[in-house]
Amino acid sequence: MRFKDYYKTLEIDERASREEIKKSFRRLAKKYHPDANPGNKTAEECFKEINEAYNVIGDESKRAKYDQLRFYGRPDANNNGWYSFDPDFLKNHGWPGTAGAGQQGPFGQFFGQGFAFSDILRDLFGLNGMHAGFDMQPEAPRNITGNLKISFMEAIMGTERVISVRQKKNCPGCHGTGQNRQALCMRCHGRGAISTKKKIRIKLPAGIENGHQLRLRGLGSESTGLNARASDVIITVQVESHPYFRRTGVDIYCEARVEDTNLQNGTRLRVPTLQGKQVELNIPAGTKKGTLFRLKNYGLKSAAKQGDQFVKIV
Ligand SMILES: [Zn+2]
Repeated sequence: MRFKDYYKTLEIDERASREEIKKSFRRLAKKYHPDANPGNKTAEECFKEINEAYNVIGDESKRAKYDQLRFYGRPDANNNGWYSFDPDFLKNHGWPGTAGAGQQGPFGQFFGQGFAFSDILRDLFGLNGMHAGFDMQPEAPRNITGNLKISFMEAIMGTERVISVRQKKNCPGCHGTGQNRQALCMRCHGRGAISTKKKIRIKLPAGIENGHQLRLRGLGSESTGLNARASDVIITVQVESHPYFRRTGVDIYCEARVEDTNLQNGTRLRVPTLQGKQVELNIPAGTKKGTLFRLKNYGLKSAAKQGDQFVKIV
């Protein structure tokens, strides 16, 4: 059983970052693309190998599985760039029943005669030949999520923001199939998707609360392939705290510091409100610390309720 070294095919180190993998793949795909090498069988073979390798190494979960396989395989000294499996090695490392063809076990099928690693890809990754990665059923695209910070007063008054979202869209060059006239689409390098930046204007209504989530339907990424559907953008609003005011629903809370002698004798306080006014509050003689005074209707106004402002004496 021989095992292809996809890292070698892609001319990268096995610790290569996603960016490095992508870069190398693009460079090689360009170099060996059939359009650039008409009639060149060797280039065509290389091109297929590169695509097969990228299909695996370019995908984090497939790469992890591949690395695991690679770990359990051994480099073949006589055949540069290939790995061979040693059934005994596997058996001795916790994979029972891998000693012969047709045996059970995670790698059992690897030891049949005449299998190439690419044939096994199908079983291992659910792939289906060279372009399988691009022909699969459209995968449900992931929602794009993010946080949006706004100030306390913006939450009270309502505000607007323009946010920038990086969306994955179906490649217009190949309609998401990754292929163009039987060849790899050069616009998307066979991925079927391109990345675009989109600006979205959002209106945050007055009174929006911390933790509120806005769901912008269909503004996320598209799944690849035919019958593509778009995911949503989900934004979580984070309201910054205010040095003076706190809020619970439509009610506003604040604290006012009053000297003991003033509490004993009674006093008048000027209390700032959300509306930017100062309201005079009468503190009767003998008021205790911790007392809550209510300024009626000085809270937020929602469709259903009018809130109050509460002043706690401290
Ligand atoms: Zn394309």
